[in-house]
Amino acid sequence: MAILVTGGAGYIGSVTVERLEAAGESVVVLDALGRGHREAVTRETPFYKGQVGDRALIAKIVAEHKIESCVHFAALAYVGESVEQPEKYFENNVSQGIAFLGALLAAGVRRFVFSSTAATYGEPERVPIDEECRKWPKNPYGWSKLVIEQVLDSYDTAHGLKFASLRYFNAAGATERCGEHHDPETHLIPIVLAAAAGEKPDVPVFGGDYPTPDGTAIRDYVHVADLADAHIRALEHLRKGGSSEFMNLGTGDGYSVLEVIETARRVTGSEIRIRKEARRPGDPARLVADPAKARRVLGWTPKMSDLASIIGSAWDWKKRNPRGYFAS
Ligand code: UDP
Repeated sequence: MAILVTGGAGYIGSVTVERLEAAGESVVVLDALGRGHREAVTRETPFYKGQVGDRALIAKIVAEHKIESCVHFAALAYVGESVEQPEKYFENNVSQGIAFLGALLAAGVRRFVFSSTAATYGEPERVPIDEECRKWPKNPYGWSKLVIEQVLDSYDTAHGLKFASLRYFNAAGATERCGEHHDPETHLIPIVLAAAAGEKPDVPVFGGDYPTPDGTAIRDYVHVADLADAHIRALEHLRKGGSSEFMNLGTGDGYSVLEVIETARRVTGSEIRIRKEARRPGDPARLVADPAKARRVLGWTPKMSDLASIIGSAWDWKKRNPRGYFAS
């Protein structure tokens, strides 16, 4: 019996594969390698390059490896790109996601952990954000994830599919082997560390007029290894016959853009210059999770997610891998 991890060559997926294997699980990875990195998965892990919407391929993998559960990360995940090319997001994340679920159900797989996002809430009606908050995404990326959440809920009712939909806040940090390598990079912490390493002259700070203490936007940063741990707990929950649930994964603490930069200065010892820019379209002022449900249902609490540890781990990985997964 094995667990199928789609998108296992991506950032959060690769760390989850690493942690699942460390916990003694058999894992099979399916990744189209459009944005993931083959090097992020070891050669020992069975690996398939392909699309999740390829029903014949899914049927073959499930049969060959006796797949009992699935963790589904594979998706496009750039907010800006989703606004410009929504069709890509609805085709890739929604159409292919539905085809994938159909193939899994046909093959008898009934346990599913889904990589969802705080973007399902859109502009939050209250902060900290609990799972009952209104969900009204501000971009096609968020909608693509919310649609799949709805499909999962319907398939539970109709077909007994048991799922955990995990809504990540801001994933960051690295493990010994796996780190964050996006191309292009749009996320704050890797950009701040690129500036610390002298690869960029400064960090653009998007918006200084938010209704927050220092005027910059606040986010809830959670260590990628803590996120991976939550997936393992979610699988255990489902294996024990637990109910389908939607759960936030965040720490409950928020940090502003300037606080992140200040912490990175301390961790790296670099000056890190900033450049004030206008707000980035679509950015809410404050996104902070209420993580009580994940604690209650999964017994999950973040252990590595204090901001200095997150940034320190990302900095260590960057120093070891100056070009990310591209060999120098
Ligand atoms: N941000 C910034 N400069 C950058 C990248 C991001 O000021 O070069 C801000 C961004 O506007 C947001 C926060 O940092 O308020 C976190 O952005 P990120 O893209 O890392 O994650 P998001 O919250 O958008 O998923």
